[in-house]
Amino acid sequence: RAKETGKARAVVYSPSLAGPPQHDISLEAAMFQAVREGEFQLYYQPIVDAQTREIQGFETLMRWKHPTLGMVPPARFIPIAETNGLINLLGAWALKAACVQLKQFEEVAKRSLYISVNISPRQFRNDKFLDVLDDAIAFSGLLGEQLVLEITEGTLMIDPVHAESILSKMAERKARIAIDDFGTGYSSLAYLKRFPISVLKIDRTFIRDLPGSQKDGAICNAVLDLAKHLNLSVVAEGVETEEQLQYLEQRGCQYIQGYLTGKPMAANVALAALKESIHVKMVPAELRQVAQ
Ligand code: C2E
Ligand code: MG
Ligand code: MG
Ligand code: MG
Repeated sequence: RAKETGKARAVVYSPSLAGPPQHDISLEAAMFQAVREGEFQLYYQPIVDAQTREIQGFETLMRWKHPTLGMVPPARFIPIAETNGLINLLGAWALKAACVQLKQFEEVAKRSLYISVNISPRQFRNDKFLDVLDDAIAFSGLLGEQLVLEITEGTLMIDPVHAESILSKMAERKARIAIDDFGTGYSSLAYLKRFPISVLKIDRTFIRDLPGSQKDGAICNAVLDLAKHLNLSVVAEGVETEEQLQYLEQRGCQYIQGYLTGKPMAANVALAALKESIHVKMVPAELRQVAQ
């Protein structure tokens, strides 16, 4: 019974609502060790054009490979890092490393791409956040517009006045703001009017039961319609089947992210995928030449 309750509490934990979370002290100690030992890595998941399936960008997803525990999922370690403040250090590293990595991706792909990076509520509120952002942009040489910062509705709602000022400074740097897990947070739609937002990422829970679920279909259609009229782009998260992609594409969803079009992968695997895509694109051109 007690164990069950503890588990449920861990699952519904939200930094804005709960007190200090109950977490594993030994896992926390291991995290500091992991930072020193360099056990954290970045994976990259392709975000593709729903029509052409061409990779447009990547979302950066943090991974912790512990020598004995194995892969510790971000759902376990991010909340701890958020509580003890380690997220500021990890997040700054992830942002800079991802921007540098994108440069290499672009060299291989021979075209412009973008990188989408998750920003936690605590990072967003940190005094140094804009310095971290400027450093990542300057060090990597990316254009601000190649950077998408993913925040949740909760991050905006904690302190909307502060959020407004940070978001306008991000906009000055041309970085785009995406609302992650759109539709799952506690917020009103009014913030879409108030804040300079560019992208809505439809949460995986609304995609999972497509095309069968009428309710999820209605929600996705409403989001797509809303985005169209507010001039926002939409990324559907967690697309796993061809049917889901077709459904979304037919209703005007421009971008797709999910296991169907690419799982989160190590940088070298992403590089191989980009090389492969150049190859695939060249084939039709060669065929056309032969045909003439
Ligand atoms: P998120 O930002 O919503 O990331 C999307 C999650 O969905 C990722 O889980 C990804 O692996 C998973 N996913 C993508 N496509 C599919 C699919 O087709 N099917 C299924 N079942 N899952 C899919 P992941 O990597 O475990 O990350 C979980 C969450 O941890 C992220 O959710 C994000 O909130 C957080 N996170 C990950 N990396 C970072 C980071 O560097 N910084 C911060 N602040 N948070 C991060
Ligand atoms: Mg995200
Ligand atoms: Mg998401
Ligand atoms: Mg999500």
